[in-house]
Amino acid sequence: MDFPANSTLHFSPLAADGRSLLSERAATLRGRDHRPNSITRLSHCPSLSPLPNPLHKVPSICISPQTIGTHKLHFWGVRISGFLSIYVLRFWVVRDTWGSRGKRVKDYSLYTGALGTAYLLFKAYQVTKDGNELNLCSEIVKACDSASADSGKVTFICGRAGVCALGAVIAKHTGDERLLDYYLRQFKEIAIPRESPYELLYGRAGYLWACSFLNKHIGNNTIPTTHMRSIVDEVIMAGRHLGRKGRCPLMYEWHGKKYWGAAHGLAGIMHALMDMELKPDEVEDVKGTLRYMINNRLPSGNYPSSEGSENDRLVHWCHGAPGLTLTLVKAAEVFGDKEFSQAAVDAGEVVWKRGLLKRVGICHGISGNTYVFLSLYRMTGNEEYLYRAKAFACFLLDRAQNLISEGKMHGGDRPYSLFEGLGGMAYTCLDMVDPQMAKFPGYEL
Ligand SMILES: [Zn+2]
Repeated sequence: MDFPANSTLHFSPLAADGRSLLSERAATLRGRDHRPNSITRLSHCPSLSPLPNPLHKVPSICISPQTIGTHKLHFWGVRISGFLSIYVLRFWVVRDTWGSRGKRVKDYSLYTGALGTAYLLFKAYQVTKDGNELNLCSEIVKACDSASADSGKVTFICGRAGVCALGAVIAKHTGDERLLDYYLRQFKEIAIPRESPYELLYGRAGYLWACSFLNKHIGNNTIPTTHMRSIVDEVIMAGRHLGRKGRCPLMYEWHGKKYWGAAHGLAGIMHALMDMELKPDEVEDVKGTLRYMINNRLPSGNYPSSEGSENDRLVHWCHGAPGLTLTLVKAAEVFGDKEFSQAAVDAGEVVWKRGLLKRVGICHGISGNTYVFLSLYRMTGNEEYLYRAKAFACFLLDRAQNLISEGKMHGGDRPYSLFEGLGGMAYTCLDMVDPQMAKFPGYEL
């Protein structure tokens, strides 16, 4: 992944820096409305403008309230401009990643490919209960199934496990028992290559997360504990082996580096393990690994991208405090230890100060960092975090596309994808409809 050297936005003409601009925005939101229950409050932001096309490729389109349906407007309870912004975003994402490609899938992944669009449509269905969203989602997953049939990748975010798991969940929602059975059989046929890494995007942790996703959405024991146990054993054994050479109980390598972040490192692996049934000594190793990272964080409060690195540059879900915050919130929920909830709060402050990135997406953009505040809001009930989430989301809706068209923000290497582009922004805005239930896609269950 390639990141700009200075990845944080600053807006000196508008405020002293990006944070004070957002602080003003959060204060505005706080002062105007205290009901933290829907994106309605997003539309209270000043100058929430209709979205221009960021890449100047799509001609203007007209969506009237009649074409949307007044029942949806009533359900969403949002002001028309806010609703249209999100709806138009969803329209562009589907058009670019599916319609304009002749409904053929080259990249099937959730990360940058068609499955990410299907996941967005599943979220749209969950919010609107519109069966058309579910049907289109199902159609895209079927194409992803064909495209990934010979894939050797095994994870939820970048591999075939994501296709089969999402396919099964969609089939359950459509009531198609035959298709549900098909996707579950396909999932169980996935074989993890011996040389697979252990991290989330391409490794065993990413496969385990897919198992947890199925058990949550289809039912407990859809994937039996005994099946996951053998993989957990491999993950623990490998982590202890490398951990013995240092001071951290569990440690892993990916491409020769001992990463700490959510995408390739400790944060993501610990996150997936915390959804497993662990033995007492394994629980202690997971806790010890998290404590090691907390005790060895950077002086700024941010977390290094890898073991031994003193580089304090990245504040992303993939590398840095945002991914750690989500993992520490999970640890606080699972273990109930105050040290983890306090460390999560501390990491969240880093994201508030430095997380207004020059990209829009989920992996290393403002959309992903918005989930830090939603997660802290869920953990603490402190509305300050909700206002911060709204400030980031407002900023995205209000400013991101103009800034991209002006070249001040990066549109993403895959500009409509879920993890790198506008698909992630649309997903985040849909999650703001019910912030209490918002979950980082492919990470929080
Ligand atoms: Zn990233």
